[in-house]
Amino acid sequence: MTEETNKYDVKLGPFTWSYSERLDEDLKKNLGECSFENLQILIRDDLNNDIKVSTIFHELFHAAFASSGMMPKNEEVVVDVLACQLLFFLKNNPEFLEYLKKYL
Ligand SMILES: [Zn+2]
Repeated sequence: MTEETNKYDVKLGPFTWSYSERLDEDLKKNLGECSFENLQILIRDDLNNDIKVSTIFHELFHAAFASSGMMPKNEEVVVDVLACQLLFFLKNNPEFLEYLKKYL
């Protein structure tokens, strides 16, 4: 197992998840993974920036559904759509994002 980097605690619902990045032979099959049993989100550390952020959002939406006890039909498609739409929104609306930050 390679060393984990960029470790963060991420609060979602009633749980604190551990987030980290690593280059791992197991993860090479996937861009990332979300384990509810361990409250752990792992992301490959060798991804293109857009793919990395989209993958982070993808896994965060998995974690959000798991944290709230929801298992939507077609969860992979749902989290992919949400992740891609959120990434597109954040990248293409910088002025509106600055406005929203005032309320966060
Ligand atoms: Zn997934």
